[in-house]
This record gives sequence, structure tokens and C-alpha cells, in this order.
Amino acid sequence: MAFHLKYFKPGQFVFHGGDRSDRAFIIEKGEVDILAIDTDEVIHTLNAGELFGEMGVLDKSVRSTAARAKTQVTLLEIKPGQITDRLSETDPIIQALIGVLLKRLRALLPKNGDQSSDDLLTHVASVIEQSGLSKFRLESELRTAVNAEKVQTVFQPIVDLSTNQVAGFEALSRWLHPKLGVISPFEFISLAEETDMIIEVGSLVFNRAIDLLSQLPESIFININVSAKQLNSPEFLPAISKRLADNQIKAERLKLEITETMMVDINQAAQWIDRCNQAGFRVCADDFGTGYSGLQQLLDLSFDVLKIDQVFIQSVLTQEATKTLVETMVSLAKKLGMQLVAEGVEHEPQHTLLKQLSVDYGQGYYYGKAMTKSDILAQAGQLFG
Ligand code: C2E
Ligand code: CA
Ligand code: CA
Repeated sequence: MAFHLKYFKPGQFVFHGGDRSDRAFIIEKGEVDILAIDTDEVIHTLNAGELFGEMGVLDKSVRSTAARAKTQVTLLEIKPGQITDRLSETDPIIQALIGVLLKRLRALLPKNGDQSSDDLLTHVASVIEQSGLSKFRLESELRTAVNAEKVQTVFQPIVDLSTNQVAGFEALSRWLHPKLGVISPFEFISLAEETDMIIEVGSLVFNRAIDLLSQLPESIFININVSAKQLNSPEFLPAISKRLADNQIKAERLKLEITETMMVDINQAAQWIDRCNQAGFRVCADDFGTGYSGLQQLLDLSFDVLKIDQVFIQSVLTQEATKTLVETMVSLAKKLGMQLVAEGVEHEPQHTLLKQLSVDYGQGYYYGKAMTKSDILAQAGQLFG
């Protein structure tokens, strides 16, 4: 979103009383005097960081005060569209609150017969209401879907590159919405993460993974994506450990994937990994190479597996620099005793190169898309040799 900076010299007016008002300002630098229009008397002086002229964004009525630069001033100009854009991205609860406040404010404002100001307020209120409410609606539909187990779990094969056999799967969630069709986990997982629903989605995934593991050969593992809320919950690890024990499945057959974006706080990440390891679970660094953490810092964490993100695999054949980077990741991982998975392998030449580079496992459309449990069980003979 583009912001506009405006500069004023000392004594220059930002607006006069009676001007049309359709924008607000935040003071970046300097001081601004607000003046009464009839007497030109300074009512107050504003400093950097303060907002003024805000009624102009909500109500295009004429200015009831004047504003004049006291010193050299830099202002950030805010137009109505910028407010509506921002609001549509904000938390639904904040949106709903602002929506209610705006409606009350509108009821209090004197009707000045200016159609455009009324239109603007109506527009702002409806943008807020629509985006806020649709998110609320989606949230409540997701809750219903989770309770009714309408959120599916599918399993994408992970192939051992030395044998070309399926060695395990990654469990991925799918929401089949009655009206909107398949909703991507990118969308609903973040929605679930904003509330405690991620715990419920997570436990659905765990139950199904454990159920599938109990019907697959001992050597097959399943990787599961876990989020911070699950790892922070004290009941999380004991609950899955108990379920595994009840089904006589070894903890090492479930690997927990933690994305690099979750590792901003390295100490926190180290604690999570420690607790998982103590409970017998292997831990994978997911989307490896895409975050902002230093490579060394990440490698200091005792991961069992690094999953090289698909952006690197996409260009590993075409960009020499990416190939070098992947080679570096492989040699570092090997030195530290970690295994490697290449994500997003789509073509045979990528597979061949990754195999040459001694990457342990591959995952991607080249080997197969995510499958349902019944597909896996029906094809077990071919999949596991
Ligand atoms: P991810 O963990 O990186 O999962 C891999 C994603 O890449 C999946 O997208 C998968 O379908 C996609 N993919 C696999 N092979 C290929 C390929 O060859 N080419 C391309 N272009 N894409 C490929 P999906 O299923 O849409 O999941 C998106 C993300 O949502 C996952 O990324 C994961 O971070 C998250 N997610 C999915 N299910 C869950 C869940 O149950 N819990 C949590 N916490 N996160 C989940
Ligand atoms: Ca993953
Ligand atoms: Ca990934």
C-alpha cells in the first residue's frame, strides 16, 4: 500500500477552516498548530506521531478548524481507501467493534445534507461488516466442520531416494466446504491458529495418522505439521504418547514438523524440540531455508530431519547458485547427522539430481499427490513392495 508524504514550511497551512476534508494526517516530523477558524487562535499544538484531520476520513464535511505548520513538517497522508483496505486485513473482532462504533458515530453526526459524506460512512461500515462477518461466519463453519469431522486428512507419499520406495507420508488437512469447495489449509489453518481450534484440528489429524499407522508396515512413518499452540499445550505430548502406546505404535514412527517461521524465538524452539525428543518423537525443520533465522542457529537446534523448501527444488536445475545452496545444506545436514527431505519434486530430472546429491527422501507431485487412507490401504501392495 502506497503512503504519501507531504512537506510543509513553517507558517504554511495544511488546511483552512471551511476546506473540503477527505483525508487525515499523521505527523512524521515537526509540529502542527490547530487553529480556531473564527479567531485564528491556536487551540493546541500537535507533535510527531499524532493524528489530526481524522474526521475527514469518516465524514467529508468541511473542516471546522485550520491546521498550520509550526515548524518544518512532514506529514503522512491517509486516504479513506487506505483505511478500508487496512481494516479488511485486521482481526475480525476489532473489525466488528469498529463497525459498531462507526454506526453509533454515524447516528450521532448531524445530517448535513451532504450525500457523499453519508455514502462514504456507509461504504466504510459495509466493508468492515462484510469482511469481519464473513470471517466470523467462516470461523463458526470451521468449528462445525471440525466437530462433525468434515475436515479431511490426506497423506502425501515421502519416497526413499535410494530405493524409490514409499518410506512414509506427510499428513495434510483439507476442508471440503459445502458451498466454497475445497479450502486450502493455507487459509483455514491460519484461521484455526487464531483460535484454539488448531488443537482440535490437530487432534483429528493425530487420531487419523495413528489409525493409519496401525494398519501399515512397521517401517512406515507419518509426518505431522504441528503449530505453536499445540506445542505450548502441556497436555499435547502426553496425549499423543498415550494414544500411540494404546495402539502399540512406536513414537519414532510419528515425526513432528515445525516450520521455520515458528523458530523466530530460538530458545523456545530448542525447548519444544527437547520435549518432543524426550517423548521419543523425531522433529523435522519444515520449509527449511525460507525463514529469517540464521542457518547456523537453526543447525544448532537438534533436528532429526531438514525439509528443503520447494522454492529451492523449483530452481535447482536452472540456477547454479540454488544447486550450490542445496549441496551446502546436504553437506551440513550430513555432518550433523540429520536426514534430508526435498519438497515439491515435480519432474524426473529434479529427482535424478537430488538422488545424485545424496538427498535421503523426496516428496512432491512426481511421486504422488496426497492420498486418502482408503486409497493407501487399497494400493498397499504396490506402494510398499
Ligand atoms: P507444507 O507443510 O509445506 O506441506 C506441503 C505443501 O506442498 C502441501 O500443500 C502439498 O500439497 C504441497 N505440495 C506437495 N508436493 C507438491 C509439489 O510437487 N508441487 C507443489 N507446487 N506443491 C506441492 P497443502 O496441502 O496446501 O498445505 C499447505 C500448508 O498448510 C502445509 O505446507 C502446512 O504448512 C499447512 N498444513 C496442512 N495441513 C496442516 C495441519 O493439519 N496442521 C497444520 N498445523 N498445518 C497444516
Ligand atoms: Ca509440512
Ligand atoms: Ca513444507
